[in-house]
Amino acid sequence: MDTDVLIVGGGPAGLAAAIAIRQKGLGVTLIDSRTPPIDKACGEGLLPEATSALRDLGIELDRASAAPFAGIRFSDGNFSAAARFSRGMAFGLRRTALHRLLVDRASEAGVPVLWGTRISALHSAGAWVNGRLIRYRWLIGADGRHSAVRRFAKIGSTRGRSRFGFRRHYAVAPWTDLVEVHWGQRCQVVLTPTGEREICVSLFTADAHRRLDRALSQFPGIARRLCDARPVSAEAGAVTSLAGARAVTRGNVALVGDASCTVDGVAGQGLSLAFRQALALADALARGNLALYQSAHQRIVRTATRMTRLLLLMNSSATIRRKALRLFATRPALFAKMIAVHAGETPSGSLRAAGILSLGWRVLCA
Ligand SMILES: Cc1cc2nc3c(=O)[nH]c(=O)nc-3n(C[C@H](O)[C@H](O)[C@H](O)COP(=O)(O)OP(=O)(O)OC[C@H]3O[C@@H](n4cnc5c(N)ncnc54)[C@H](O)[C@@H]3O)c2cc1C
Repeated sequence: MDTDVLIVGGGPAGLAAAIAIRQKGLGVTLIDSRTPPIDKACGEGLLPEATSALRDLGIELDRASAAPFAGIRFSDGNFSAAARFSRGMAFGLRRTALHRLLVDRASEAGVPVLWGTRISALHSAGAWVNGRLIRYRWLIGADGRHSAVRRFAKIGSTRGRSRFGFRRHYAVAPWTDLVEVHWGQRCQVVLTPTGEREICVSLFTADAHRRLDRALSQFPGIARRLCDARPVSAEAGAVTSLAGARAVTRGNVALVGDASCTVDGVAGQGLSLAFRQALALADALARGNLALYQSAHQRIVRTATRMTRLLLLMNSSATIRRKALRLFATRPALFAKMIAVHAGETPSGSLRAAGILSLGWRVLCA
């Protein structure tokens, strides 16, 4: 055996899994076809659950490394509702900066990484890499939403309706300490602070041809704020959807991060889920029982999936969106509870979390 665990994919999920597995004392090798720092279109917000999981991985975010935010505001031009996190810290930071932190921590933990390396073939006991067979006990697919490892393990996936996410950074001091989600006609613009003088603006839409500049005309308040701000990155895009693998383990293969499930980017939860899955996966591997990971994964994604369905319902129906925004604005305590569930302050999968979400759901659909 060359390594206990071979991880394919060195994005946030793969690196987090590698660190967590090393922390359990197992040997791990990681492979990624790209070279760092790896960028990707992302809203770049880390909810308190993500920062707490990062702490468990040995990465402590602070004001020097990231831009803190204190809660979330929803608005649609008519109604606005805001809620502050009651526990934990949330941060925005550029995707490349997050990747650098994870790469440095993986190196400190002693993870051998083969960057710019492709796997030419996978077998149940080994993978051909650069003309050499790497034998492993477990194989982890952390290779994103189009996972080759998932295909290799013959694990099917559910298909959600795809949307498109675009993001660009602007040199402007954040005007609020909240992440703002602005709801428009079948699209959302999300503003996340990523520095003392920088924000990340993301657009979520089902229209592949829509771009930030055109979309911002629907949001005159944001357009006014950004009119003098210099864009400091190119507009980048990615496909996003609510979808998942039909199973997250098969034999000696496990999936983590977007390879195992994706929630629509507007939920801002993909990274929290990936880091928490990585910790659960390491725990299961240390006990030599991947079934533990399958059940932990279900618990981890359950609430995020329900919350995302609610957000997508607000996206697709103008009536429900208006009703929801009015409800949140007039019942701030309900909105605060939903944000607490969303941010992981009410443990996901708990009866209380499920109760709060179904209350919101029932009120909206009544
Ligand atoms: C527009 C948008 C906005 C988002 N905003 C947020 C947000 O604000 N907060 C949040 O928490 N989440 C957000 N998300 C979700 C988050 O970006 C993802 O959940 C996260 O990137 C998942 O990380 P990952 O490591 O699983 O996958 P990826 O980041 O896709 O990494 C996969 C890695 O695998 C490598 N790879 C792929 N195939 C192979 C192969 N065959 N061999 C070797 N390597 C391979 C790739 O090079 C890549 O490095 C957003 C998503 C989108 C699309």
